[in-house]
Amino acid sequence: MTARIIDGKALAEELRQGFKARVEALAARGQKPGLAVILVGADPASQVYVRNKVNGCLAIGMHSEQIVYDAAVDPQIVLARIAALNADPAIHGILVQLPLPGHFDEGQVLAAIAAEKDVDGFHAENVGALAQGNPRFIPCTPYGVMKMFEKSGVDLAGKEAVVIGRSNIVGKPMALLLINAGATVTVCNSRTRDLAGHTRRADILVAAVGKAKFVSADMVKPGAVVIDVGINRLQDGPDAGKLCGDVDFAACQEVAGQITPVPGGVGPMTITMLLANTIEAAERKAGI
Ligand code: NAP
Repeated sequence: MTARIIDGKALAEELRQGFKARVEALAARGQKPGLAVILVGADPASQVYVRNKVNGCLAIGMHSEQIVYDAAVDPQIVLARIAALNADPAIHGILVQLPLPGHFDEGQVLAAIAAEKDVDGFHAENVGALAQGNPRFIPCTPYGVMKMFEKSGVDLAGKEAVVIGRSNIVGKPMALLLINAGATVTVCNSRTRDLAGHTRRADILVAAVGKAKFVSADMVKPGAVVIDVGINRLQDGPDAGKLCGDVDFAACQEVAGQITPVPGGVGPMTITMLLANTIEAAERKAGI
């Protein structure tokens, strides 16, 4: 069997086209959706992510501001800027690019963002709302994965779902969303015993590990839906420098029923759902 490929790039484009009319309708009411992205330091990967987020906004007619600080900035200056953005009517979403330099208290920074502008969904209030099954903002990467399930006709209720990874950004919110959708969920981590024993039971397998080609074909149940969240840059071999997921795509494609590629899978969906969250924030403010 060769798996059907879930094309995140095409789905992201389709969704973004659909966002334009919502942005126009909001702009006509004087509520053009606005996203502020704060970057501390000059990490090249973070710079690319931030640029893509800002350009993604501009491409569909949204307002976006990029605020960049030197890596050595006093955290109080960033907190003061967040307070100003919280009060700025042109801004509906605020995002602080993670990770922050070591002298920052990440939790303090995330807590400083007004919960109704926390479009990343990392504020404790929004994490709690998600855990209660009544989310205000769903973290963008797992939100994108849920859209992929929806658009691919994957019914989650009653399915065995296994998530590899328990980070606050991907693994945990992914598990909560799968629980809320009625799946039976197992969350694995680096201490899990007999990982393959778990993954081989999975009708739905989500890999968010950060290790290239970590999931091999013998870890996948025939016909499973395999979602590859990982973004790794290959260090050696003929493909050195290329992006690669956490799943051995070529091998797993022969076993899975549906599978996401890297690049062109979950990655494009993440920024798309950030735009969705910012539009939703503006619609809420406009009473739509
Ligand atoms: P993370 O915070 O480093 O978490 C990785 C998780 O994998 C941890 O929970 C870790 O377990 C677990 N793990 C590591 N080795 C393992 C093993 N041998 N067996 C089982 N579990 C293992 O990473 P993250 O932020 O969740 O990101 C994961 C990957 O997704 C990265 O490649 C990242 O670049 C990518 N990502 C992609 C997007 C996107 O838009 N596509 C967005 C965010 C992240 P412990 O908790 O026990 O250490």
